[in-house]
Amino acid sequence: MEKIKLEIVTAEKLIYSEVVDSIVAPGITGELGILPEHANLVTILDTGVLTITKDGEETDMAVSGGYMEVQPHSVIILADAAERADEIDIDRAEAARARAEEAAKNVGDLDAQLAAEAALKRSLTRLKVAKKRSNRPRKPAQPIA
Ligand code: ATP
Repeated sequence: MEKIKLEIVTAEKLIYSEVVDSIVAPGITGELGILPEHANLVTILDTGVLTITKDGEETDMAVSGGYMEVQPHSVIILADAAERADEIDIDRAEAARARAEEAAKNVGDLDAQLAAEAALKRSLTRLKVAKKRSNRPRKPAQPIA
């Protein structure tokens, strides 16, 4: 079966580098599904959930905007920030959400309001990805021998 080499990088570090089956990315105009042999494409990413399928198993990541370059067998995502579910600090995201909601009430300053809306979207995306993780059914505990 054909695969895709996926690399996710930020300005600071390499976040993810694996050979995967498919990707669903938050494109600026909606979700973009990428399978092997996809046509060449460069696009802007929105803040949202990135879903990676590898060996039939799905992993979600929170992505905070950036660019995606697609070639038939490779995808590079240059993200402003990206976190896997298990890397997300839920308390921090809740605090960021509360701050952003408060800042969004400052209706007089358009720039501040846009910044607050972007921060709100980042925090809600992180909470969505982190909560999906905690809702996932766990394996039953092993009996102690
Ligand atoms: P905050 O106000 O909490 O810093 P933010 O949305 O302004 O949130 P970003 O500027 O998007 O944060 O990210 C800065 C760095 O912090 C990035 O490396 C990002 O991965 C990380 N980060 C932000 N929020 C969280 C979180 N809730 N859990 C884990 N890492 C986070």
